[in-house]
Amino acid sequence: MTDRLLSFVQHPLGRRVARALGLPQPVRLLRRQDAWSDKELAGRAVLAIAPGSAEPLPSLLAAIVAQGAGASAGGSVQSLVVDATGCRDVAALRALFEQTQLALSRLRPGGRVLVLSSSVAVDASEAACLHAVRGFVRALAKEIGRRGATANALVLQEGAASQASLEAALRFFATDRSAYVSGQVLNWRKTDEPMTPCAADTQTPRVAVVTGAAGGIGAATARRLALDGLRVVCVDVPAARHPLEALAQEIGGSLLTVDLAGASAADELADALRRLGGVDVLVHNAGITRDRTLARMSAAEWDSVMAVNLSAILAIDAKLDAAGLLNAGAREICLSSISGIAGNAGQTNYSATKSALIGYVAARATALDGRDATINAIAPGFIETAMTRKMPLMVREAGRRLNALKQGGTPADVAEAIAFLATPPSRPLTGQVLRVCGQSLLGA
Ligand code: NAD
Repeated sequence: MTDRLLSFVQHPLGRRVARALGLPQPVRLLRRQDAWSDKELAGRAVLAIAPGSAEPLPSLLAAIVAQGAGASAGGSVQSLVVDATGCRDVAALRALFEQTQLALSRLRPGGRVLVLSSSVAVDASEAACLHAVRGFVRALAKEIGRRGATANALVLQEGAASQASLEAALRFFATDRSAYVSGQVLNWRKTDEPMTPCAADTQTPRVAVVTGAAGGIGAATARRLALDGLRVVCVDVPAARHPLEALAQEIGGSLLTVDLAGASAADELADALRRLGGVDVLVHNAGITRDRTLARMSAAEWDSVMAVNLSAILAIDAKLDAAGLLNAGAREICLSSISGIAGNAGQTNYSATKSALIGYVAARATALDGRDATINAIAPGFIETAMTRKMPLMVREAGRRLNALKQGGTPADVAEAIAFLATPPSRPLTGQVLRVCGQSLLGA
């Protein structure tokens, strides 16, 4: 779907007209959507600053930054990494303000800011100052969004500050892979095992399942995971057989046509996975909307959304758990929504299911931890797909613009975030919600 305003303001005349009319002037986002490499920061101008911070984090960051091209003294930078783990009193927050302000003048349009904070505080006043960093980042993200730049924060849990762990964090949050992720604060926990690189492994490809793969976010995800060398099982309804077959052929994957709301769906998927040796990456993407105000909603509209968006996921997971088909080290990703966080008029059924998934991943993460597996939710904001194409014009236009980047995301933006959560190095993230929403004002 074309965002006409985005195209219009790329021309100087269009920009002038938009400015005169007080319209948003979104910039084209810098995106990177090729396969993961072991050296994600190579060639990138990264600057790390450490206001108020103590060793060893600054030297760990310096070592990581040195792996890229590094930023020449005083030159412009593509990524700014702010170690704010030492911002534990008001004086250190002042240093955060001053040093970030100075460094920000060097950030290129479309740049990335990643702020590291800490969950470890000795008293309430330290906790307050550490928490201040979250508001700082969210406000900063809103300021730099109009230049296509983003800012996010990772709160390091005790023991999480190893070089491997920080490298894993930077490969997504400090690069153009996270183009439509902004204003997010996530917990980054300590993990014990070494975080192996995630380049394509064609010897023993990991198996991925993507439900709802015939179009939109699902198709983009299947393509993206295949790029990383995964063998993808594309699942969708029998009516979508043709696009599904074409996709499976294109990416060298396989397909399963099944109505996930049907009673035998979990069994059919389990049978297919048994033949492939289980599943390593499970993406619960299929979802539907049946929008109507609660007063007018039929029981059928309520039930069908519950069946696809929630019951099917619970049934599949229960079946795969019982059959031992979720492999050790698996990555499970559920497609939630901003509507599940903020609620949306006319979507009590949809918002309930998407909210359920947020509770589900938080609760299920502990159970999966013993198997070195993780589960997270992705909450897309306004993404340009068939689902959002159905919206009335004015609602669609509002959805597109009510975020810090003043534009909708693409299915590939969501796929890139899923691809990150699917990699071994994303292990420090589990039980959480990663919003891919351009810092949508909804539910912020
Ligand atoms: P889409 O409508 O383009 O694709 C959904 C796919 O799911 C379709 O191919 C459809 O055939 C399949 N599907 C539906 N019911 C099924 C069933 N019973 N069995 C098997 N397959 C079934 O949707 P999309 O926009 O790509 O969204 C994908 C996911 O992301 C959904 O869960 C949606 O709720 C979520 N999401 C999307 C947006 C957005 O802006 N597009 C925003 C927030 C969340």
